[in-house]
Amino acid sequence: MCPKPDKSGATGRFQAGSIPPICYTVRLRILKKLAENVSFFGFDPPPCSEMSLGNHADLGSQNSEGHDSVFPPWRRAGLRYYALGFFLREKFGRRVWKLSVDAGCSCPNVDGTKGTTGCIFCDLKATAPSRRFGLGELPVGVQLKRAMAQMQARRKVDAYIAYFQPGTNTYGNLARLRALWEEAASLPGVVGVAIGTRPDALSEEVLDTLEELNRFTWVQIELGVQTVHDRSLRWLERHHTWAESVEAIISAKKRGLFVVSHVILGIPGETLADQLQTARQLGALRVDGVKIHNLHVLRHTRLEKLWRNGVFEPMSREEYIRTAVEFLENLPPMCVIERLVGDAPAEFLLAPKWSLEKSLVLREIEAELARRGSFQGSAWCLPARPS
Ligand code: SF4
Repeated sequence: MCPKPDKSGATGRFQAGSIPPICYTVRLRILKKLAENVSFFGFDPPPCSEMSLGNHADLGSQNSEGHDSVFPPWRRAGLRYYALGFFLREKFGRRVWKLSVDAGCSCPNVDGTKGTTGCIFCDLKATAPSRRFGLGELPVGVQLKRAMAQMQARRKVDAYIAYFQPGTNTYGNLARLRALWEEAASLPGVVGVAIGTRPDALSEEVLDTLEELNRFTWVQIELGVQTVHDRSLRWLERHHTWAESVEAIISAKKRGLFVVSHVILGIPGETLADQLQTARQLGALRVDGVKIHNLHVLRHTRLEKLWRNGVFEPMSREEYIRTAVEFLENLPPMCVIERLVGDAPAEFLLAPKWSLEKSLVLREIEAELARRGSFQGSAWCLPARPS
């Protein structure tokens, strides 16, 4: 207990008029609040689970000795972030590979429902080989069996996630989509289904169906959130808002679905603090995973014109590495990192060319985390940096 001050303000230990130091009990309470990250400074609600307690301990490396039990398993395995491969091994007990499959879905941002020209950066032909080679015309089962045979010839993998990737995969005739998801899920070797979609394309009926599907296979929903800033969503011509993303994330999580948020770094006008706000708000919503990529320029997109006119300049490699590292530090440690750099075929990628060296960039991100002595989640348990 603090000694009680008398009427003059003196406590008996300190001179009247002097400012007494904060007593031990109060200091302890403040530290406890900080550790819990209670809305003490008006930031996000408490993000730390028992699992994340290793993270502010990381800031003082002396604490990492002898306290392994508080670290999440990926830390104990020597990783700097919660990599997808590690998570899938943990979950399924073996290597699992994601195979892209094309249900031939359109997109409300292309067919005139929300827009006609698509997002500023999107070219489905560049991002989905199936659209380049017409594979999307094939039945889903045939696509997956072919891909599995190719994969088995190259790597020792016998478990797969069918990833419905191109277009908006919850948009269209739901009975047809349900039949395709079920067909994929019932193929031997398929242990789960991932469904890529937009936050404004998750109706109650779709969620009901996905919830049912989730009872007999593992369902991951991949939401194109991209950023928490509406001005950036407008610039990207996404034609949905952050509020719609919040609603979609909460609704999908309530149904027990594994929610992965796609995020873009390097959107013009976003400061580092803006981008870290995206990390923290997604963390506060407890998204299960993120796919991060740098905004890059593909041929035949409207972003190409802006880039050629000098209106848009992609992030430099150094800037991206720094931003990605801080983004990881600001995510909770229990969020799975499904991607850390964007990739596109060399013949479609105009800029930045450094993102073609994907594995090198990944190594540089890890090296930067090591140089800083930090990990995914290192900044999560601390108040966010003010913007
Ligand atoms: S929502 Fe997805 S599929 Fe549709 S235009 Fe945008 S990036 Fe392309």
